Amino acid sequence: MRASAYPLVDAGLAASRVLELVPVLPGEDVPLAEAAGRVLVDDLVASSPLPPFRSSAVDGYAIRAADAGLRLPVVGESAAGRPFQGELPAASAATVLTGGVVPAGADTVVMVEEVEGGDGWIVAPAGFPAGRNFHKPGDDLRPGDLVLRRGLPLGAAELGLAAAVGRARMRVHRRPRVALMSTGDELVEVGEEPGPGQIVDSNRWALLAALNEAGAEVTLLGVAPDQPGPLRELVLQALAAHDALVTSGGVSVGTHDLVKPLLESLGEVHVGRVKLKPGKPFTFATLPDGRVAFGLPGFPVSSLITFEVFVRPALRKMQGYAALQRPALPVRLGYDARAPGDRTEYQRVTLSREGADLVARSTGSQSSSRLASLTGANALVRVPAGDDGIPAGTLVEALILSLPA
Ligand code: AMP
Ligand code: MG
Repeated sequence: MRASAYPLVDAGLAASRVLELVPVLPGEDVPLAEAAGRVLVDDLVASSPLPPFRSSAVDGYAIRAADAGLRLPVVGESAAGRPFQGELPAASAATVLTGGVVPAGADTVVMVEEVEGGDGWIVAPAGFPAGRNFHKPGDDLRPGDLVLRRGLPLGAAELGLAAAVGRARMRVHRRPRVALMSTGDELVEVGEEPGPGQIVDSNRWALLAALNEAGAEVTLLGVAPDQPGPLRELVLQALAAHDALVTSGGVSVGTHDLVKPLLESLGEVHVGRVKLKPGKPFTFATLPDGRVAFGLPGFPVSSLITFEVFVRPALRKMQGYAALQRPALPVRLGYDARAPGDRTEYQRVTLSREGADLVARSTGSQSSSRLASLTGANALVRVPAGDDGIPAGTLVEALILSLPA
């Protein structure tokens, strides 16, 4: 082992540094079917009213309110998509169906349940007011109204609204193209029987899922050996077509740890060690042409925690999201939390509802190789370094991964 040349930086400072340095990706036009979960680049403004015409809210009869109480002949019908032609004559009614145009001349709609008659004529209740049971043009949106603001993530309702105002395509931030690579001569493919000293490459599958959840388009590069030449080749090829490189393993200070020197030779390493447990060897570099590289530690929990703390917020910034972090909620500690030493610890906890509280309990051994400490976790509790710790019963802010049922 040799000493690392990199200063041990505060985890919060390292996270801000990463966020400063990652770019927001430019926009691209996509069809609505591909726009869900993406962030809008430009304001969307209505160019025509919604609804576009006087549209009946019920099945009933369009009349003049002045004719209510009179026996009125039913002179025609206005169904959705098949309007009544011309103006409704005085002292008459037209059948209107939900979504049908209220004919010119009529000023109110009476629900079918409220009229008497049938068979070619109706009587609406005397005194029935004008202006009932139909939507007016522009009730929902008028021309010039702001429909969707730039920076808004597009969900089901937003996409429905975009379609309603006639937009078939949307300009949204590009998704980051990420090349994912595991490193290590000890790694074998899942499904293969590990030989002596070998382990299965599990980080690839964990990080692939995490990257997809964060909105990235992922290319799997497989496993790079612990040899500088082949590793460099693989990385150079990948960078040609990607915005970011994510590696796992090969960032600690052993002689086989080749990722940091490689990134140094390709660009600039800004973070090489952090006061974070697990995840001390986390490495971040900027590369030519606005590309970035994240060197995650090899231990499975360390790779996922550093993904949560550094990579996920960065990928969200790249996609234009304003909210970069997981939601934080106050939770009551159900155990004495301590992080002896000099590194902030992200402890994995389960949450349960107890009265008005969410109570956090440790998932057990917090060893960085024990993935089970993360599999059932609902949240991460940030425990500051030092011997004092946080006593059970304290309310702390936790980063919520999922809420308990
Ligand atoms: P390293 O940072 O390369 O020294 O890796 C530290 C440890 O993490 C290794 O000894 C392995 O036990 C584990 N590890 C590294 N890469 C992976 C991987 N892709 N999947 C699962 N475990 C890994
Ligand atoms: Mg290794």
